[in-house]
Amino acid sequence: MNTKLFDLSGKVAVVTGGNGGIGLGMAKGMADAGATIVVAGRDAAKNAAAVKEIQGLGAKASAIPVDVLKEESCRALIADTVKAYGRLDILVNNAGMSIRKQPEQYTLAEWHTVMDSNLTSAFLCSHAAYPAMKKAGVGKIVNIGSMMSIFGAPFATAYAASKGGMVQMTKSMATAWAKDNIQVNAILPGWIDTALTRRAREQISGLHDSVLKRTPAARWGVPDDFAGIAVFLAAPASDFVTGAAITVDGGYSVQG
Ligand code: NDP
Repeated sequence: MNTKLFDLSGKVAVVTGGNGGIGLGMAKGMADAGATIVVAGRDAAKNAAAVKEIQGLGAKASAIPVDVLKEESCRALIADTVKAYGRLDILVNNAGMSIRKQPEQYTLAEWHTVMDSNLTSAFLCSHAAYPAMKKAGVGKIVNIGSMMSIFGAPFATAYAASKGGMVQMTKSMATAWAKDNIQVNAILPGWIDTALTRRAREQISGLHDSVLKRTPAARWGVPDDFAGIAVFLAAPASDFVTGAAITVDGGYSVQG
């Protein structure tokens, strides 16, 4: 096998929300493949712990605090990364959240918080990253969608809109930036055991068991399940893959 296909040595990857959950799972996978990781979250203690964990794998890592709800913070994240490392090869737009309410209970402010956290943030970080990637003549952008990119749910109006939008934005950026040798793809996770879904399980009765029942793999996912797909989409192995939305869900979305 050509091992360079999955080699990230010398590459620099920014992972928004890389301080826990799925983001940290992807960050550790890419670190293990040789990448330097920039952990970009709000919570300073979580950022520091994640950097320590990644460095424990023998990789280089640092944290840049970011609030993806703020345009200037997204732009500073990318600018500071390029300043610190002289390059940005991989951007993973993973930061996200949900407000679980029936649509009629939503305020406009809540709608904007979900849309801006999940979708506008990915647009802003990608927009900020494009000049450096274009200049380098190579780049990888990985956007995190959801089963709610495909399905709907009574509690997920804004979340599903943001995650559906993430897939369409991925396709459009992929078509726009293929000429610059920048690949833009999405990962659609199934139900994964993280802080986000621990809250969901408290709020939605029966969720834990209904996920288990519907998932052919018969388990909830774990953050480490995202290490492999992140490496693939960040590495030369995926150089002719762009605009794709790849499910990582233990078969949840194909169960009839
Ligand atoms: P977590 O709650 O563990 O992670 C969410 C991450 O997003 C945290 O690192 C958090 O950082 C960061 N974040 C949220 N808001 C902001 C903000 N305004 N600025 C900066 N960082 C922010 O949950 P998951 O790991 O589960 O979620 C990661 C992604 O995966 C999300 O996009 C989520 O929608 C998606 N996803 C998750 C699924 C699951 O089953 N768990 C299923 C499908 C998709 P901090 O704590 O520092 O604010």
